[in-house]
Amino acid sequence: MIGDKLQQVRARIVTACTACGRDPASVRLLAVSKTFPAEAVREARSAGQIAFGENYVQEGVAKIEALSDLRGGLEWHCIGPLQSNKTRPVAAHFDWVHSIDRLKIAERLAEQRPAELPPLQVCLQVNVDSGANKSGVTPEEALPLARAVAALPRLRLRGLMAIPEPAPDFEAQRAVFLRAAAVLGELRGAGLDVDTLSLGMSADLEAAIAAGSTMVRIGTAIFGSR
Ligand SMILES: *Cc1c(COP(=O)(O)O)cnc(C)c1O
Repeated sequence: MIGDKLQQVRARIVTACTACGRDPASVRLLAVSKTFPAEAVREARSAGQIAFGENYVQEGVAKIEALSDLRGGLEWHCIGPLQSNKTRPVAAHFDWVHSIDRLKIAERLAEQRPAELPPLQVCLQVNVDSGANKSGVTPEEALPLARAVAALPRLRLRGLMAIPEPAPDFEAQRAVFLRAAAVLGELRGAGLDVDTLSLGMSADLEAAIAAGSTMVRIGTAIFGSR
């Protein structure tokens, strides 16, 4: 069941890439398993899925621990808003964080990342639809924050994540995603070595891919509605 859904989502990614002349291998699929049990993650892993996203720290850590027998075969991404009193378990258990929106959070993650683990891969969350969604830095704030985060030890700045409000149609969705792509271009232009645009969910992955997404975060279309 989850295996069939995964195949359908992979097919959507291929179709979307073909439609805009992109290589399907340039888009990673992040399966968002929030609210679903560890056994659903195990089933998706059996169907070949490696990267999983969680929003809530406690729930994510419990699942990571429940699946510790698969540890080497799974990659865990923290995609939810992060409070500074929750950074320690994130630094200890996750591989990626997509939702950095202030320097203090990044500094705590850098300080708390265990020395024996590889650097934590991080994206800044950028708010590209003018305050409709309160999380994330403004496009103007992204470059100074990116410079500061890139200079921290134990973290590796990979790029940007955005979660725009639902837009009515493909063109409107794409226009908003393109603003995030433009901010990534600005970081690159400033000499930062960034390669990741975490854009697109179940309802708008095609528009995200058309705008240059390199990682789509898909929950409902894989695991069902929450
Ligand atoms: C829940 C969530 C998703 C997945 O959304 P779906 O619409 O279920 O695909 C993606 N990104 C973030 C940040 C989320 O919180």
